Amino acid sequence: MKKIIVGNWKMNPASLKEAEKLFANIAKSLSGAKKTDIVICPPFLYIEKLKKLSRKIILGAQDAYGKDVGAFTGEVSPLMLYNLGVRYVILGHSERRALGEDNEVVNKKIKASLTVGLSPILCVGESERDENHSYFNLIKTQLEECLAGISKNSISKIIIAYEPVWAISSTPDRRDATASDSLEMSIYIRKVLADKFGSDAHEVRIIYGGSVNEKDALEFLKHGEVDGLLVGRASLDVKKFTEIVKICETLS
Ligand code: PEP
Repeated sequence: MKKIIVGNWKMNPASLKEAEKLFANIAKSLSGAKKTDIVICPPFLYIEKLKKLSRKIILGAQDAYGKDVGAFTGEVSPLMLYNLGVRYVILGHSERRALGEDNEVVNKKIKASLTVGLSPILCVGESERDENHSYFNLIKTQLEECLAGISKNSISKIIIAYEPVWAISSTPDRRDATASDSLEMSIYIRKVLADKFGSDAHEVRIIYGGSVNEKDALEFLKHGEVDGLLVGRASLDVKKFTEIVKICETLS
């Protein structure tokens, strides 16, 4: 399976000029990359301009609404994004769940995105770990509810990003996750998917996210049982992000 590195710029940078500079520098540094799907998810309003700067880097979005057109003030639809050249969309990110988005809403967004040809990157992850390991059940529920009604034919188009919220860089008092945390959860996610979708579950790429940087990327990719990484803060740093992609290239 082709590995994928996804950069989530979140609500950064503050101007189009800075976004163009960052994107162009990343594209230049990665012009030789061949084996990895490289996806950058900038804020919506930079997408159109950035699309013109590189053929290699695939554009992703950080969210999309659950309908295509209509009276939904302030929303951006999967169809609009697809028509701009976007091919991936992060859905169910913990920072959106913290604003009130639940599994049912994420499910609608996944379905609407698949309908127009966008590949959803579904984020799942627990806020904390408890001694009884009930976080496994939480991940199972997130997967089952977010993927309710998705057909076996569509499941291979979805990427699952395991992002333990306690390891994300913006979480207060965060702590590092290890490759073995990723490995354990990746195996579990694959099993939940296999129970629901049978052998088609093998086609699903499972990636890890949570403060990944150029120093631990190799460890997660080699020993975390993942098909790629979702990178937040480090994706805003040309050197760090491109180093992560280059590390991935050496393994593919
Ligand atoms: C994220 O929030 O998707 C993420 C991976 O962020 P960071 O790498 O900054 O923890």
